[in-house]
Amino acid sequence: MRAEFSERLLEWWATHGRHDLPWQRPRTPYRVWVSEIMLQQTQVATVIPYFERFVERFPDLAALAAADIDEVLALWSGLGYYARARNLHKAGRECMERHGGELPVSAEELAALPGIGESTANAIVSQAHDIPAAVLDGNVRRVLARHEAIGGWAGEAAVRKRLWQAAGSRVPKTRGADYTQAIMDLGATVCTRTGPDCRNCPVSSDCRAFETGTIDHYPAPRPRFDVREKKLHMLLLTRADGAILLERRPPAGIWGGLWSLPDGDDAQGLNERLGVDDADVQDLPAIEHRLTHLRLEIRPGLARAGPDTQGVKCNDDLRWFGSGDWRSLGLPKPVLRLLEDFIEGER
Ligand code: SF4
Repeated sequence: MRAEFSERLLEWWATHGRHDLPWQRPRTPYRVWVSEIMLQQTQVATVIPYFERFVERFPDLAALAAADIDEVLALWSGLGYYARARNLHKAGRECMERHGGELPVSAEELAALPGIGESTANAIVSQAHDIPAAVLDGNVRRVLARHEAIGGWAGEAAVRKRLWQAAGSRVPKTRGADYTQAIMDLGATVCTRTGPDCRNCPVSSDCRAFETGTIDHYPAPRPRFDVREKKLHMLLLTRADGAILLERRPPAGIWGGLWSLPDGDDAQGLNERLGVDDADVQDLPAIEHRLTHLRLEIRPGLARAGPDTQGVKCNDDLRWFGSGDWRSLGLPKPVLRLLEDFIEGER
């Protein structure tokens, strides 16, 4: 049955699979790696324009490793989960220092690099080197959970173990690259989260969820988690020449490493830190922004810096940027929107 699963899948893929994704042409280890990192938690259609811009600017590992992290984050801006970009950059530098400027070929060495887990390492090895290896991204998990009727949430170790076994037992002995792409494509285009197209599925004849009419039971959803709420005060401080004060966020936490407006938990503390008088701050409309575990209420204030701007002590992570400069930075989405609204209002 197992060999048959891959045979039917590959036959289906030859006609219905995706063969013209930008990272498939050419399918180099570097391009596959960048695409796999971008595709974590993000759909193909969203990733494509980001991928194209990214590899145009950084065509190979050496170019990425030599870049400033700000430029990497700027090209990632809007794609979210910025730790991925920081890890990509860090891993690129590690490859330059320890692997002779190449991505390692073995899955074990790949998985030792920042931001690369077991499934991503196997996805790179199989697609870049055509070595058969099991992958278990979100799409593949869904196909396997349904095909083998594996209940329980994939975050639990026992469930994950069963999924890995199901994944490993279906991998064919040859055509590693095609098989990885085929099973990912099946999950993305046929065995979709809602409304899977079982009548046109190449593996429906032995799909246990389909046979028993229990597709809705698989995969089991993640247990509900609490969404926290947080208020964040931001200060939009402008200078007479139009420059805006921005601060680089700490590497960990929300929007880690991105430039943003200076912020703080309380407005007074924030104003004081920047040497701005509370009375000189005008309140702007609050903005609500949702992150996975967090509902953020941003309370922005606007202040004009005096001609000497003595209150602000700039450093590497707190700087003035002219409008031509901040537009090329990787700013968090709500901050970019706030700045654009402000510039629009000034016209
Ligand atoms: Fe998914 Fe339906 Fe195919 Fe089963 S038969 S793998 S549920 S698309």
